[in-house]
Amino acid sequence: MAGVDRDRLARLLDAETARFVTAHPQAGKAFERARGSQLSGVPMNWMTRWPGSYPVVVAAAAGSRLTDVDGHGYVDFCLGDTGAMAGHCPAPTVAAVTAQAASAITTMLPSADAPAVSELLRDRFGLPLWQFTLTATDANRFVLRLAREITGRPKVLVFDHCYHGTVDETAVTLDDQGGVVARPGSLGPQVDPARTTRVVQFNDLAALEHELAHGDVACVLAEPALTNIGIVLPDEGFHASLRALCDEHGTLLVIDETHTICAGPGGYTAAHGLRPDFLTIGKPIAGGIPIGAYGMTADVAAKVLEHDIPRLTDVNGIGGTLAANPVSFAAARATLAEVLTPAAFDRMISLAERFEAGTAGAFADIGLGWQTVRLGCRVEYMSPVRDTGTAAGTAAGWRAARTGAEASAAFDEQLDAYLHLALLNRGVLMTPFHMMALMSPATTEADVDAHTTALRDALDALAG
Ligand code: PMP
Repeated sequence: MAGVDRDRLARLLDAETARFVTAHPQAGKAFERARGSQLSGVPMNWMTRWPGSYPVVVAAAAGSRLTDVDGHGYVDFCLGDTGAMAGHCPAPTVAAVTAQAASAITTMLPSADAPAVSELLRDRFGLPLWQFTLTATDANRFVLRLAREITGRPKVLVFDHCYHGTVDETAVTLDDQGGVVARPGSLGPQVDPARTTRVVQFNDLAALEHELAHGDVACVLAEPALTNIGIVLPDEGFHASLRALCDEHGTLLVIDETHTICAGPGGYTAAHGLRPDFLTIGKPIAGGIPIGAYGMTADVAAKVLEHDIPRLTDVNGIGGTLAANPVSFAAARATLAEVLTPAAFDRMISLAERFEAGTAGAFADIGLGWQTVRLGCRVEYMSPVRDTGTAAGTAAGWRAARTGAEASAAFDEQLDAYLHLALLNRGVLMTPFHMMALMSPATTEADVDAHTTALRDALDALAG
């Protein structure tokens, strides 16, 4: 975007890359070794996308901090992309997991903690009945199946540039003509996703109404705000209209709170009074021990149970042998009851406000018009969108994206790579893929200020 000297940016990126390699010899050796037995030298494909020539190798993680095998410390605002939102290794979770692992690990039977966890979720999110999985991906996959089953409709609707895990129906986007196509780079799509999915831009209620009017959509699957293409917030009134349109067209509404739990103890749903038919979640609710969950209303549950129960209880599309295991429940009970408490959220949200103010000030001071967007205890900074002044009555100028397509088009890959790597080299870890930061109960004001200082330093170098 205007104001960035691209040659300078390219030179700075090279310099930060060289600095990374010099400072991380042990991680380099580990990477060389891993190349002998792991595809691309990483145990999980996403890890190639961390900034630097290879990933840092973690020695230990505690609270808001990581240390690596090269002896560097980091303030961690990635927090395992929300898996460690409770802070790394919170004491109540560690104690519960340690005790549980010594008594029963997996049994395919309920443990005594199981009802306590579904009650905690019920009380937070307002949905009465729950089921458990190992991941948020599975929670979403199973809810899509149930929604199709009880409505008898074949399709689902998602918002462009959504991410709900590796769910086949959601690996879609819109092409330039507005057609539904597989997301670029989508690996081996099982069928043409236009057969399974309708796609509209976030905040586009007219398109939503048009697509639902086909009468073939079992459910809308939505994050309350997009969080995987930067943060894209809903317009005022968007959620009320979404609910009303779903009701009008006989479509169920599934709200995925896996990331938007950052809005408060009961996620965006409780904070803003949403009324989903299903709610899905995973990642942080067991402090990083694998768990996923989906809740449903009493009406939906009654419809599910009208369907053939033997089919629900066999190998017919909903499963997972290790799901609902005693360790997941022990971890979730401790994390929800003692770590991710309402008081912790109050603190985390006020830290995010401090983070937002520090970041916005740093960008303003060098005259880069990046937008800072906050959702509860999560903050994103991202390239702005040029507004002609026609959308939603806004004045002409730069603004935050209102759709996934806008956020994607504004994304500045080189600048994003530079900022990630410059911050990492200055001891601050941001979520990879875009500039997102999450506060945990262990995060401190000093951690937030360390980010502001590192960001100012990286931006000063860019300004020259
Ligand atoms: N839903 C949302 C909103 C997500 O962001 C993600 C992962 N980033 C998932 C679901 C899937 O989570 P998992 O990979 O743990 O299954």
